[in-house]
Amino acid sequence: MNTYSSMKRLVLFFILIATVCSTAIAVDTSYSIHDGHIHYDQDVWETLPPADAISMLKQQNIKRALVSATPAEGAEMLYRADPEIVIPMLRPYKSWRHRYLWFNDPDLETFLLEHLARVPYRGFGEFHVFGEDADSIPMEEMIELARQRKLALHPHTNLEGMRIILEKSPDINVLWAHGGFNVPVATLRELLDTYPKLYIELSLREGMLDDEQRLTPEWKQFLVDYRTRFLVGMDTYKPSRWADLPEIAAETRGWLAQLPEGVAADISRNNLDRLFPR
Ligand SMILES: [Zn+2]
Repeated sequence: MNTYSSMKRLVLFFILIATVCSTAIAVDTSYSIHDGHIHYDQDVWETLPPADAISMLKQQNIKRALVSATPAEGAEMLYRADPEIVIPMLRPYKSWRHRYLWFNDPDLETFLLEHLARVPYRGFGEFHVFGEDADSIPMEEMIELARQRKLALHPHTNLEGMRIILEKSPDINVLWAHGGFNVPVATLRELLDTYPKLYIELSLREGMLDDEQRLTPEWKQFLVDYRTRFLVGMDTYKPSRWADLPEIAAETRGWLAQLPEGVAADISRNNLDRLFPR
């Protein structure tokens, strides 16, 4: 059996298990989530066609989602399948390999302009860039395009990269993927105070929950204090994350339920709607 078909079997298996588990565990999915981090990458296109991916989102009561893909055409496919749910985000990668090169690609702007003409993209991302790599001419061209067309940026970057991006784009909505993973809360607070258009997207963020899946006091206070500055995300960056979507959504709802209702509503959907009005 070749690698591709064995991977396909594995994905189907995961999806089957996930479906069984999601019916076994009763999770309150009565309130909707507007998701800041969905990928529809080529490695799931065959096993999870657009209509099936859309119904997986619907099953979790995910009513809107920022969707990006490698290659970029995945976001386009999912947008065409359901333009009500999908908010298309343009990932600046021509291929998986390009992920490590794009920020120095002299043809980046041409690539972006070609794709922007295809569907009504609302931002660039999620894109990976770290440290001084964020300080490049193609990056600046992308930021200038975002400025002209009122698009958001969704960077996956470290603190050094974030500071460079924010300095270049203080007037642009920037959604920091994973909230920098492990960047200290004190630093996040300082950046949110300095840059009013910075938002923290919380998929895979570390340190929020204790062993009992309770929000730590520090995080609970942080989420309350900056309630208009957070987005939730499932981050389906590999096939098994699609399969695990019911569990990831349940875990997210689990900590949202520990917050005052209005705060949870802001973080789970209102903030995304303010950033990306229909
Ligand atoms: Zn990421």
